[in-house]
Amino acid sequence: MSKKNIGSEFRNIIARECKRDGRGKFKTKDVLIVAERTYKEQQFVISLLKQRLSEMTMKYTITPCKKCGRDWSTDLIDTLYPLVRDRSEWVFGCMFHNGGCGRQVYGKSQQDVIERWNAGETDEWMRE
Ligand SMILES: [Zn+2]
Repeated sequence: MSKKNIGSEFRNIIARECKRDGRGKFKTKDVLIVAERTYKEQQFVISLLKQRLSEMTMKYTITPCKKCGRDWSTDLIDTLYPLVRDRSEWVFGCMFHNGGCGRQVYGKSQQDVIERWNAGETDEWMRE
């Protein structure tokens, strides 16, 4: 999601939850209440994600990419994730758009995909 989308998403929430005055403007107080609430929700999500990330990195050693040397060990949110809801397929992607080489590694579990990544396996190249 781009920054522009995040901004327009926030404007959508404001438009949905805040009343307009006679001149079509929102009350600053109403906007502030929504902004504070969404900020708290985001902080909560961020803290959960950071917690999950540190659990992952504590549990497994993640070596830099065998092809390009990019170290993803502190930057896994957009890199290592399940492909299906039941978490039976995983991808570890050396994401081209984040400065990686496009190397993709697949696995049947988080541990499996990390082991295959560390071993230098490559299943696919993704160049975006
Ligand atoms: Zn790479």
